Formats: sequence, C-alpha cells, structure tokens
Amino acid sequence: ARAQAMQVTKKPSVEYADIGGIDEQVREVREAVEDPLANPEQFEQVGIEPPTGVLLHGPPGTGKTMLAKAVANETDATFIKMAGSELVQKFIGEGARLVRDLFELAAEHEPAIVFIDEIDAIASKRTESKTSGDAEVQRTMMQLLSEMDGFEERGDVSIIAATNRFDMLDGAILRPGRFDRLIEVPEPDAEGRERILEIHTREMSLADEVAFADLAEETEGFSGAELESLCTEAGMFAIREGRTEVRTEDFEAALEKIERDEATGTPVAFY
Ligand code: ATP
Repeated sequence: ARAQAMQVTKKPSVEYADIGGIDEQVREVREAVEDPLANPEQFEQVGIEPPTGVLLHGPPGTGKTMLAKAVANETDATFIKMAGSELVQKFIGEGARLVRDLFELAAEHEPAIVFIDEIDAIASKRTESKTSGDAEVQRTMMQLLSEMDGFEERGDVSIIAATNRFDMLDGAILRPGRFDRLIEVPEPDAEGRERILEIHTREMSLADEVAFADLAEETEGFSGAELESLCTEAGMFAIREGRTEVRTEDFEAALEKIERDEATGTPVAFY
C-alpha cells in the first residue's frame, strides 16, 4: 500500500512548451530548481544557498503539477509524486513513516524531484480542537520539516509542493530553509487562454475559421484544465456530426454545454 501512494515517473513527458500562459512562473521555477541542479557550482561561487523548497500556490487546474513535471523532464530527474491527503494516516507514526519512505525513495533515484500535492492536508494552521488526529498530522508535518532541514546531505533531490489553500498554511513551513520560494500560479488571462487553447488543439484537425482570440474572450474564468476539457468536448461534437474537422460551431456547442457558477462565471461541469 505504501508504494502505491507514491507515483514514480522516470522522466515525465511534459515539456515547458506544453505549458501556456504562465511564462513568468516557468522562469521562476527554472531559476529555483533547475539552475541549482544543473549548476550547483554557480551558487557556491556566488556564496548563496539555493532555495530549499518551492511552493506553488493558486487555483486548481492551472498547471502546478505540469510545472513540476516539466522541471523533472528538463533535468532528467525522476518525478516522485505524493498527495498530502495520502500522508494523513490513521495509525500513529504512519504518516511520518511515509514521509521517510518518500525521501528514501528519492535518494535512491537521484536526481529526483519530490512533488507533494495538497500540502495543506498536513500543513494547515493548527486548529482549535486538539484531537489525537490533529496531533498525528502535526507529527507528519514535523517529519517533513526535519527531512528538509537535513537537505544539505541529500544531494540531488529537489522538493516542490503545491496547494490551492495558501491562506490555510501554517507559517512554520514557509520559513527560510523550508518552503522558502513561493510561486503563485494564477488563472490564465485572455492571452494565456489563447495560448493554452493553441496547445491543446495542436493534434486536432481544426477548420481554418477557428479563432483562438475569440474563444479566449469567451472563456473568462476557465482554468487550463477546463480549457483542455472544452477542446475535447468540441471534438466530441465534430464526431457526433460525422466530421473529422473541428469547427467554431463545435466550440460554441461545447461552451453552451458548460454549466457555470452564477457568481464567478467559472465552469462547474459539462452536462
Ligand atoms: P490541482 O491544483 O488541481 O492539482 P494543477 O494546478 O496541478 O491542479 P495540472 O494538474 O498541472 O493542474 O493541470 C491539469 C491539466 O490541465 C494538465 O494536464 C493540462 O492538460 C491542463 N493545463 C492546466 N494548466 C495548463 C497550462 N497552463 N497550460 C496548458 N495546459 C494546462
């Protein structure tokens, strides 16, 4: 069961070119993770410590996991992913043991990128109620921090975490030597949405008439993940019509099929 909780990918296939609309974030992640792995001597010569951990925060489906995978791809590193929710265990000491296993696994696969998604599951501000469950979660977080404190001996292992709940995080994990590089990954703006639509239609047969700029305007509030679903849905409409070419009308039909949150305009689901 322990091995199942961790997802290990030798060299993920995601590339920076697959990520749209967050060029600045790509640059920051490369600087914080790639440069120290590729040129450790540069940091030595300048006389500074590279960031210990990178924390990506922002709404769901904006490319945080993609960013972490793309760095692993670029640095030929093994990508080891674990969800914070998986680290919340029933039995005393079990969460901490998983954290130890995670870093042991990373050390065996150097160079490696450890990616902890939903870090808020183990690193939220202490709640008022001091139940035994809270104490166990606390222990798991302490284990993570202690693994990070011992980082210098660890060699070529980088750690990236992600959260949609930055406001909930315990300040203890953000101190220097811990997650000391924060990168916000926002929802894409119109230009970003245009780029993401281009990326997700690269392999599709599109009619010449399809105008990404117009579609980008019509998809305010969409995340990258939602734009990807929109493209797939448009393709489904073309298939339903017995066509192999996807037209503007298919995108319009897909857009109509989306149920949106009335207040924010954010897509809720396709129905
Ligand atoms: P979560 O917080 O829910 O884990 P996330 O920010 O990690 O979300 P990803 O898993 O990276 O989001 O994105 C999910 C999918 O959405 C990707 O596999 C990709 O197809 C698409 N996607 C999201 N953001 C982008 C982007 N900026 N450019 C291109 N595709 C994107």
